[in-house]
Amino acid sequence: METAVYPGSFDPVTNGHIDVIERALNIFGKVIVTVGDNPGKKPTFTIEERVELLKECTKNLKNIEIGSFSGLLLDYVRGKNSKIIIRGLRAVSDFEFEFQRALMNRVINSEIETIFIMTKEHYVYLNSSIIKEMAMFGSKLNGLVPEIVEKKLRERFSKT
Ligand code: ADP
Repeated sequence: METAVYPGSFDPVTNGHIDVIERALNIFGKVIVTVGDNPGKKPTFTIEERVELLKECTKNLKNIEIGSFSGLLLDYVRGKNSKIIIRGLRAVSDFEFEFQRALMNRVINSEIETIFIMTKEHYVYLNSSIIKEMAMFGSKLNGLVPEIVEKKLRERFSKT
């Protein structure tokens, strides 16, 4: 069975990410979720914290591995004996960025394929930045992130 790699910032993991992970697990034999830094984003949680949160939130799922990477994603994917990158797709806004990245990766290594998974409609407008903004202003995050993530966000923003 194929192994697929799902990379992202996961800063922090949301129910949209979990939905993509669960859908991927229905298709692939194993899913490796890997945390990397996106140079365009200033992180709220360290890579280690993001890995820990992902582990906690996926502890009931089978055939999953949580890791992190730095450097070229394609090297990481090859190192894991995988040929598949998973990305989630939300509204149209994701499309251009994802399209460019997938095609660029294909230019570098044509054997590695990017597969897109659409999330449940409920999570289509969900992203980590909106969640952080809501948490910062004390809004409830019911049903949008796992409980442990909501707790960590409250702790983080009550210190600032
Ligand atoms: P990155 O900084 O690499 O885009 P993110 O953590 O923001 O990392 O997202 C990782 C992947 O998960 C991306 O492919 C993104 O489009 C997807 N994703 C994020 N939130 C959702 C969501 N609510 N529904 C579906 N896919 C999502």
